[in-house]
Parts: sequence; structure tokens; C-alpha cells
Amino acid sequence: MKKLVVLTGAGISAESGIPTFRGADGLWEGYDVTEVASPQGWQNNRALVLDFYNQRRKGIQQAQPNRAHKILAELETEFDVQIITQNIDDLHERAGSTNILHLHGEIGKARSTVDPNLIYDIEGWELKEGDVCAKNSQLRPHIVWFGEMVPMIAPAAKIVAKADILLVVGTSLQVYPAAGLIHEVKSGTPIYVVDPETPPYYGYEKITAIQKSAGEGMEEIKGLLTSKEP
Ligand code: NAD
Repeated sequence: MKKLVVLTGAGISAESGIPTFRGADGLWEGYDVTEVASPQGWQNNRALVLDFYNQRRKGIQQAQPNRAHKILAELETEFDVQIITQNIDDLHERAGSTNILHLHGEIGKARSTVDPNLIYDIEGWELKEGDVCAKNSQLRPHIVWFGEMVPMIAPAAKIVAKADILLVVGTSLQVYPAAGLIHEVKSGTPIYVVDPETPPYYGYEKITAIQKSAGEGMEEIKGLLTSKEP
């Protein structure tokens, strides 16, 4: 089986009703990202950060995987599919994909503020002040915030380097280091991109860009990948 590595971003979940992040003006759902998604934000106003993620978590729990998530799960019958997602939602899991690496964490989990190895599933939608880890310290969302290290970037780079085909769906490629992952592909690897606004891919020859929304674009990709050798 060929190894199909898929890099996904907020755009793949847009048709599930989860808004994308607008990198250009630094706002996420109307909030300044430095206030709600940074270590400084956490220090300054923990209640605001907890509430921001509680509201996102509630929305994500009510959302359903869309056609694009489901096609990626279906492709496992023909490809060795490995998904690397920047998304903090669990829509790939709920669509049935089995190999998923979350680069930026998972909104359904909480982690200790004193021991990063203490990670817990959040029951329900709310993480509250006073919810503590086994070492009695406040729990925070299990999310990689702006300005923090991305511990999963090295394993992700290794996966991309092994790709026979790279597929990029719904990411503006503005957030680093995730955006740099495409540079890890072996020279000559075919790259497929699904995004209504294709980000610039300089210096790559074998790019197929499908400027459509994720669901429609993934239908087309499925046809392309399963009907002929890419
Ligand atoms: P981004 O918001 O910067 O880019 C979204 C991309 O999706 C854009 O290129 C846009 O053209 C495209 N897009 C918009 N609608 C689409 C559709 N219907 N189908 C396909 N593509 C569509 O997102 P990013 O590059 O993933 O970076 C955002 C950061 O914010 C990530 O770090 C992520 O963790 C976080 N985030 C996550 C979620 C989520 O988990 N669903 C949602 C918002 C933000």
C-alpha cells in the first residue's frame, strides 16, 4: 500500500460548522489569540482562557464529521493513510480514521500545569478553575499555544518524509512550524492541495491544486487517487 500522508487544518472542519482561524488579523472567533491562546494569556486571565476553550469544546461536541473527514477514513482501504492535523477537534477520529497525529493538541483533553505527562480526558464540555491533576495543580487545556514548543513536530516531519503522496487540506500554512512540514517531502513526491484559496507552494513541480471546499474537493481527490497512478 502506498503511504498517503494528509496534513489538515481548520478548513477541513469548516463545513462541520467550526469556524477557521483568521491568521491575517490574529483573531480567533473574535478573540485576540494572545489573550486566549498563549502562556501570557493564561497568566493574565485564566478564567477567560478556560471559558474560551469551554465554548469551543461545546461547539465541537455538537458538530459532526463532514464528507471530507469521511472520505479520508474511507481511503484507508486503499492507502496506508497517516493524518497529521493542526486541528484540536476530534472529527477525524469520529469519522473513523485510525492514524491521527495532533500537532496542536486536543480540546477534549486537559493536562497538568506542573507535569506535562499528566493528561486527562475531560468529561462533558467544561474545564473549571479548581480542577486539578494528581499533583494537585490546576489543569489547563491540552493545547499547544502560540509561543510554545510543538513536541509532535519531529515525529510529524519523519512521517512526511516517508510519504509516497502528500495531501494538504484546508490549511493556510501560515502557522509555523506546522507550515514547514511540506518541505520534508522527498523530492518528486506528488502533492495534492484542497483549499478554496490555495496557499503559495514555491518550488514544487508535482502540485495538483483543487480550489474547492473540503467536501467537494475531497470527492475529486478520491477519484484522482483511486482511478490512476498519481
Ligand atoms: P487557518 O484558519 O489559518 O486556515 C484555514 C484554511 O482553510 C484557509 O487556507 C482557508 O482558505 C481554508 N478553508 C476555509 N474554508 C474551507 C473549506 N470549506 N474547505 C477547505 N478549506 C477551507 O487554519 P490553520 O492553517 O489550520 O491554522 C489555524 C490554527 O488554529 C491551527 O493551529 C489550529 O490548531 C487552530 N484552529 C483549529 C480549529 C479546529 O480544530 N477545527 C479551528 C480553528 C483554529
